[in-house]
Amino acid sequence: MGGAGESVTRGDRRRRELEFGRPSPPLAAPPIGGARASQPVQQNSRSSTLRVVCPLLQQSQPSTRRPAIQRQVKTVLNAIQHFPGFVFHDIRLQCYRDGQPRCIEITVQAHQARAARCSRCLKPAPGYDQLPQRSWLFVPLWGTVTWFLYAARRVHCPEHGVVIEHVPWSEGKRPVTIAMMCFLARWARRLSWRETARAFGTNWECVYGPVQWFVQWGLAHRVLEGISAIGIDEIHWGKSKRADNFLTVIYQIDSHGRRLLWVGKRRTKATLRRGLAALGEPVVQGLRFVCSDMWRPYLTVIAAQAGQALHVLDRFHITSHLNQAVDEVRRAESGRLRGRPVAEKLKKMRWKLLRKGSRVRGRAKRRLCGLLQSKLATGRAWMLKETFQDFWRYRSLTWASAFLDVWTTRALRSRWEPMKKVARMLRSHANLRMNWFKAKGEISAGAVEGLNNKIRVVTRRSYGFRT
Ligand SMILES: [Zn+2]
Repeated sequence: MGGAGESVTRGDRRRRELEFGRPSPPLAAPPIGGARASQPVQQNSRSSTLRVVCPLLQQSQPSTRRPAIQRQVKTVLNAIQHFPGFVFHDIRLQCYRDGQPRCIEITVQAHQARAARCSRCLKPAPGYDQLPQRSWLFVPLWGTVTWFLYAARRVHCPEHGVVIEHVPWSEGKRPVTIAMMCFLARWARRLSWRETARAFGTNWECVYGPVQWFVQWGLAHRVLEGISAIGIDEIHWGKSKRADNFLTVIYQIDSHGRRLLWVGKRRTKATLRRGLAALGEPVVQGLRFVCSDMWRPYLTVIAAQAGQALHVLDRFHITSHLNQAVDEVRRAESGRLRGRPVAEKLKKMRWKLLRKGSRVRGRAKRRLCGLLQSKLATGRAWMLKETFQDFWRYRSLTWASAFLDVWTTRALRSRWEPMKKVARMLRSHANLRMNWFKAKGEISAGAVEGLNNKIRVVTRRSYGFRT
């Protein structure tokens, strides 16, 4: 037995082939478990193949029927991936010398009775010749790398001449089956591309291609109907504030559906114009609400292209502008007071000041109260920011605009330039600001913010992004 085993390893490029379910002589093979490396070898037609015999089959009578395991794998494959005109001919498990599984090879054959189809027009055409066998990566079965093997034919199409036949599990010249591309693309949404590649035993390019293909397919087949509200936002990534480090993102923020519609580089007028063009004229004309930041290029383009829609400046952006202003006041003040004992009160206060007042508790709250009593500019600026929260509680447009007037007057009389800046901004876009109340209930408030966080996670996940 040992000698026969040696000849196997030498004869077949140091690998063993375990063949699923060829008919085997009864009682010839030991049970599967543990004895894989020293399986007896049948010295017949293919001396280089080892057969794995299912223990169940050993009890059955010798017969010419195909054993159950072979039929089952084929049945499963046919149920999941049936290609009319093709049959799964043979399924083999290739093993390393130590008996560990290396890959599964599924040989596909063309159905004798069916003519091959032209890959360009998909019409049946007379055969021309046959190309050498090629392999396509398939979804891993039982955690083992799996390949489709097929020798494609060439056909003589009356219209297109001699071309390769249509291979239904493959698209273009990719060495990956469509099933595997869908599989990888789905996983690449959960893991990073590099992790996906590592988990399924392929390389980065093998994941990038399918994702690209999947996105193209999704874009070609998506339905842009029923979009009445969109959110436009900029995302900053990387460290520097260069124009290239910004992305413009368009979301759908209807209460019945939220999704990412478009992403483009930079945050210029041209970017947004491209984005709206990608959505198409009917969609843009059908918009009822547009939600965005007070970023001037966006305002200009929205006013020009989607003038019929109500332009809403949302709460999330206003709050972040106010927070930024408070932070600037704090930084300026702690710079002024450097070295004096009162400056202690401003230390380590940054994140406490950015929170909503109701969310600050415990020791942080005591420190905040101390800061407010000290009459430092930072404390007062923070109070001003907090009072603005009341603005969102108004139901009546009139009272809300009265509040806004009072608030901005107070802010403009203060001596803090950052707060004044926000107040001026709110005044100059007062009409847009008020649209918030007109659109109340129609668009989901946290939608833009929520989606924004999501895309941040996505951009972090696709580290190793090489294009
Ligand atoms: Zn053709």
